[in-house]
Amino acid sequence: MTRASTTARTLADLVAAGVLPPTAAGDPALAQVARDYAIAVTPDLLDLIEGAPAGDPIARQFIPTAQEATTTSDELTDPIGDHTFAPVRGIVHRYPDRVLLKPLHACPVYCRFCFRREQVGPGGDMLDDAGLEAALDYIATHPDVWEVVVTGGDPFMLSPRRIARIVAALDATAHVAVIRFHTRVPVVEPARVSDALVAALKTTRAAVYVGVHCNHARELTSAARTSLATLADAGIPLLSQSVLLRGVNDSVEALEALFRALVAARVRPYYLHHPDLARGTSHFRLSIDEGQALMRALRGRLSGLCQPTYVLDIPGGYGKSPIGPTYVGDPASDGQRTIEDFRGDRHDYPAR
Ligand code: SF4
Repeated sequence: MTRASTTARTLADLVAAGVLPPTAAGDPALAQVARDYAIAVTPDLLDLIEGAPAGDPIARQFIPTAQEATTTSDELTDPIGDHTFAPVRGIVHRYPDRVLLKPLHACPVYCRFCFRREQVGPGGDMLDDAGLEAALDYIATHPDVWEVVVTGGDPFMLSPRRIARIVAALDATAHVAVIRFHTRVPVVEPARVSDALVAALKTTRAAVYVGVHCNHARELTSAARTSLATLADAGIPLLSQSVLLRGVNDSVEALEALFRALVAARVRPYYLHHPDLARGTSHFRLSIDEGQALMRALRGRLSGLCQPTYVLDIPGGYGKSPIGPTYVGDPASDGQRTIEDFRGDRHDYPAR
């Protein structure tokens, strides 16, 4: 059944689409959440929803709940410290060899756990022509920038013409070797992956990668897999980014199904993010111990091709660190080490 032909952007739209009960429209707590954080759920996702957010991993990611009204004392408006490293509008320069380029702060959907939820939304900042030129000029005048991560918001929301403008400018910048787009579009609005979009990603020199945000195997519908195949068939390497989320993918079975489905769709699992300390998202967070236990269980079940790196963005803008379990024991008195195998058994390994 097709629930809607347009993106749901209000509580009333979600009620009309049948994914919230009629009482939700008059719920004051939910109304406050809707004022604080943007709503957007595409028709593709509305069709995937099978129940209430408490029990459905798709609804839980996109349908607002009153739980978002709770802000804990450790939550932050800028959880990964973007603002600390923004030398010009639209650029985040945190690591020496790469920058984020953020041409817009709009997305096709607004995830309820979003780490940039204070910045993204339909009225979100968008670089005008002069702003985009200034951001591209920053990259052109910083020869250490080897990789540009085009993110936002979702850069695949831009017109193919504007994407082509960005790609051409970066392709013409000799020190930029890699242009990496981060997007949720192929999964949540696959029809946007058009021939014009693929043509806009064409370069003459720099390598283009696409990182796809996907958190549950059910998101990889037939239409989503077709859009990913369109990109892969154009020779674009595909990576995934997933967020570890309570009630969405916090079981070894859900993660195994997700990573197998991604690899089968020619998407290499890249990062599994520990959830950030974004405001109103405590109901999504797991402990690091729980995340490590899940990664350890996956090690015994999945090939290396299906294993992402489990990472945490350190609050304050200090960057990502891998936080997965270790398989190397502490040195013994003779320096001997032990290495744990995928069954959990330990084996000696010489000190040198
Ligand atoms: S697509 Fe990304 S930036 Fe947009 S709301 Fe979701 S997590 Fe945030």
